[in-house]
Amino acid sequence: MSLFYWTVVIIAGSLIGSFTNVVIHRGPSMWGLVDDATPRGSLLAPRSYCPHCRRPIPAWQMVPIVSYLLQRGRCSACSAKISPRYPLVEFTGILVASAAYVVFGATLAGLFAAVLGWCLVALAVIDWETGFLPDMLTLPLIPLGLAINLGGYFVPIADALIGAAAGYLVFRLIGAAFHKLRGFEGLGQGDAKLAAVIGAWSGWQLLPVAVLAGSVVTLLAILSARAMGKTISAKTEIPFGPGLCAGAFFAVLLVRTAT
Ligand SMILES: [Zn+2]
Repeated sequence: MSLFYWTVVIIAGSLIGSFTNVVIHRGPSMWGLVDDATPRGSLLAPRSYCPHCRRPIPAWQMVPIVSYLLQRGRCSACSAKISPRYPLVEFTGILVASAAYVVFGATLAGLFAAVLGWCLVALAVIDWETGFLPDMLTLPLIPLGLAINLGGYFVPIADALIGAAAGYLVFRLIGAAFHKLRGFEGLGQGDAKLAAVIGAWSGWQLLPVAVLAGSVVTLLAILSARAMGKTISAKTEIPFGPGLCAGAFFAVLLVRTAT
């Protein structure tokens, strides 16, 4: 632990959190998951704009978290409210980097864990907002996790290969059984691909831990939504993706203690 690395963790975490917001906003429209009258642009162009008035945001207003607070959550040009999702995702970017640094130190394993965490933040919010876990984000993470484990970073490659296959198959089986029993899709294909990601990164041993942690997070979210007065019945479609993303990050932080 050093002051230098903590500075890197906070600056990199917030900047990548800021870029994660761009992925969350533009990704679903780029990948054709949502219909848009006006295209939102690609990941590189145009430069950041206010989603309301589409005026480009000057560089000095793009300081993660700080700009949001200084502008009291409003666009300086049109005064439209800026979603609190922006500073929250930036803050989560810092949390992810901090957790990876605390667990793995300033190592390549720590960097890899942070990369997984940042992708999971994007996946969780996109699933929350659109109901999709985009293939463009889940699928590349499977070979990436396997390659990292081939390099000997988290778990033995055999555990990772079994984990990827088992995660996908078990989720598809549960999903199919649920569909048959209840008549609607409760566990989507995106969830199965995410389970494959968990296996590929953390090995089959930590899959149940990730699923359990994901279930606890989802349950807590349901309970707090109820406490805030939302009605949730057995028919309400509750996305499991965001909870499972949290479980996936939790699992990769545990690889050292589990093996
Ligand atoms: Zn505006």
